[in-house]
Amino acid sequence: MMVVMEEGATEEQIARVVERVEEVGATAHISRGEVVTVIGAIGDREKLTALPLEAFEGVERVLPILKPYKLVSREFQAADTVLEVRGRKIGGDHFALIAGPCSVETAEQVARAARAVRDAGGTMMRGGAFKPRTSPYAFQGLGRDGLEMLAAAREETGLPVVTELIDPRDLELMLDFVDVIQIGARNMQNFQLLSEVGKAGVPVLLKRGPSATVEELLMAAEYVVKEGNRQVILCERGIRTFEPSTRNTLDISAVPVIKLLSHLPVVVDPSHATGRVDLVLPLSLAAVAVGADGLIVETHPDPQVALCDGPQSLPTSSFAEYAEKVADLVAWTGKSLG
Ligand code: PEP
Ligand code: MN
Repeated sequence: MMVVMEEGATEEQIARVVERVEEVGATAHISRGEVVTVIGAIGDREKLTALPLEAFEGVERVLPILKPYKLVSREFQAADTVLEVRGRKIGGDHFALIAGPCSVETAEQVARAARAVRDAGGTMMRGGAFKPRTSPYAFQGLGRDGLEMLAAAREETGLPVVTELIDPRDLELMLDFVDVIQIGARNMQNFQLLSEVGKAGVPVLLKRGPSATVEELLMAAEYVVKEGNRQVILCERGIRTFEPSTRNTLDISAVPVIKLLSHLPVVVDPSHATGRVDLVLPLSLAAVAVGADGLIVETHPDPQVALCDGPQSLPTSSFAEYAEKVADLVAWTGKSLG
């Protein structure tokens, strides 16, 4: 349930509510808005409803949270969540342009991509060192060496690094080299992985599974936030449909739908959604227009020799032109990059 405090409720009054909630074995998550504070009480419903919280001083009202997800909901927190990673923001008025190769292949390749992203005004870089590949015979990523290459490119360019984690045993290692942990589409419902990144308190970019509903995506995010980690970015990367002309079908309506339901920032991945480089710009612009908080796109110095996802990767030589068009529309929406 949600305990909505009165405007100007004191810290003591808030603490008293938290104390009572915890006494019945529930957890209290506090959301401090500009005007009011809301306390999300999660635990045994019967025990919580038996508490006379409405009678407590400073309490305005007590509401049940009817949705299956709670902490990620707009009801719990009305204001947009804004994350800050190495000085780059995402959410609210801040738009993130995240770009880089699908996979880290060589130090030179990832450095060239990172420079192109930085020079074009991109705000973060991406690159996979541990790759979830459909075929066990396909390139699986460089592992630790790849993380070191990403960290070197970060050192040179100052861009925060987003990279995918597929095994919780690699989490510790990753925290030394990267800034945002990506949970890929295939692992959206790997609940142990979600809980581990929740406990680690590191920013998380959570991709929607190819067959997952919006509600399932929000429930997956709830696993991370429940552990006390509110730094979650959601990603729409296309879903599986009957339409074969694109690799997946970008569910563009998911963006405004999620933004109505949740306070978390939403980014769009037009590269994996389409699998086609010629569709990356139009769908990026569509994403900006419907209110996305960012884009995550693939760019490679030489897509023709890419070990993974070349056909959907923008050549770094054309990245600046792409980024300029995106930035123009971002400015039109009243947001700014980073
Ligand atoms: C990726 O971003 O490298 C990736 C594998 O994407 P997805 O999980 O969306 O397929
Ligand atoms: Mn890829």
